[in-house]
Amino acid sequence: MYNAKAYAATSPTSPLAHTTIQRREPNEQDVQIEVLFCGVCHSDLHMVRNEWSSLMATPYPIVPGHEIVGRVTKVGSGVTKYKSGDLVGVGCMVDSDGTCPDCKDGLEQFCPNQVLTYAAPDKHLGGFTHGGYSESVVVDQRFVLSIPANLDPAGAAPLLCAGITTWSPLRHWGVTKGKKVGVVGLGGLGHMGVKFAHALGAHVVVFTTSPNKTADALRLGADEVVVSTNAEEMQRHTGTFDFILDTVSADHDVNAYINLLHRDGNMTLVGAPSKPLAIASFGLILGRRSLSGSPIGGIRETQEMLDFCGEHGITADIEVIPVQNINEAYERLLKSDVKYRFSIDMASLKAEKSATVEDEKELASSVK
Ligand code: NAP
Ligand code: ZN
Repeated sequence: MYNAKAYAATSPTSPLAHTTIQRREPNEQDVQIEVLFCGVCHSDLHMVRNEWSSLMATPYPIVPGHEIVGRVTKVGSGVTKYKSGDLVGVGCMVDSDGTCPDCKDGLEQFCPNQVLTYAAPDKHLGGFTHGGYSESVVVDQRFVLSIPANLDPAGAAPLLCAGITTWSPLRHWGVTKGKKVGVVGLGGLGHMGVKFAHALGAHVVVFTTSPNKTADALRLGADEVVVSTNAEEMQRHTGTFDFILDTVSADHDVNAYINLLHRDGNMTLVGAPSKPLAIASFGLILGRRSLSGSPIGGIRETQEMLDFCGEHGITADIEVIPVQNINEAYERLLKSDVKYRFSIDMASLKAEKSATVEDEKELASSVK
C-alpha cells in the first residue's frame, strides 16, 4: 500500500478538502496511473451531498471523480494492454465479475457485481473505492481505456462519463443521418450529446432553460435551439422527434418533451434528478411513445466512442480548474454556470502539504 493525496468530503454538508488516502500496490492485472485530469460530473455532486440516498447511501469520506485521464506509471506482471508512459482513461467502473451474461455481452454497466470507481465496497483494501480527485489510481487493466494520442488530455477526461453516457443511448436508439434528435439541458452531458448527434449526422435541436447558451449550442453542432420556457416555441415541434435525450439534473416537466415525440418515438433519461418525475400516461399511450433510461456504457463501447473521438477530433469544451476550486465549481454547477465541463488539473494537488502522521492515523481509522 502507498499513500496518495486526494480531495474528499466527510459529510453531505462539508466542503471537499485535502486528505491522504491509501492505494494498493499494483497486483498482477493492475495498472497504476498518475491522474493528470479529472472531469467534474454532476453525479459527483449528487453523491457528495447524498442526494441519491434512496438508491444508495453515500459512504464517507468520499473521494469522487470518474472522468480520469492519466499516465501509466507501473503495471502488474500480467498486464499486456498497457505499459508505463501510456495515456489512459478510467470511467465510472473499475471491476465486474466478467462471467455474467451482461459482462459476456460487453455490457459491464449492467453486471450485478460491478464495482463503481468511487463509493463502492473495495475488495482489495476494505472500506470503499476512491475516485479520481486524487494523484494516483490503481485499476484492473480490463477497465482501463486507451486515449487517442491526438486528443487534449484535459478535454478527453469528460469523455469517460459525459461522453459514453450520451454516446451509448444515441447508438442504441439508432441515431443517424435523417433523424430528428432533441437534447434537453446543455451542461456536461448535454453538450457531448449535441456533438455526437451532430457527428452522427442527425438534425439536432437543443432545449435549454438558459437563453445565453443559444450561440454556443449552434457552435457545438445544434441545428436549432429552443428555449424551453417558451411554450409557443415548444408547441411548434409537437410530434416531430425520433429521439430525445434528457440530461437534466434537477426536477422538471418531462411530459412537455414526451409530447414532442412522433409515433413510436423514444425519450431516454440519462439525467438523474433525486426526486421521482411525474409522467402523464396519455403522453405515452397516444403515439405509442416510450420512455427509457440508460446508464453510462460498456467498456468495449467506451473504447469505440474514444476512437470515434480520436477520428473526429472530438473532446469536451472545458474550463480547467485547480482542485482547490472544487467547492466553488459545485456551486456553479447548481447554477448551470459551466461551459461545459470543469476539468481538474490534478497537478494542483502537489501544492497541498502531505498529511501528518496524526492525519494519517485519523484517516486510517475513518477509511477502514
Ligand atoms: P450539468 O453539467 O450540471 O448539466 C445539467 C443541465 O441541466 C444544466 O446545464 C441545465 O441546462 C439543465 N438544468 C439544470 N437545472 C435545471 C432545471 N431546474 N430545469 C431544467 N433544466 C435544468 O450536469 P451533468 O454532469 O451534465 O449531469 C446531468 C445529469 O446526468 C445529472 O443528474 C447526473 O447525475 C446525470 N448523469 C447520469 C449518468 C448516467 O449514467 N445515466 C451519467 C452521468 C451523469 P440548461 O442551462 O441548458 O437548461
Ligand atoms: Zn459522471
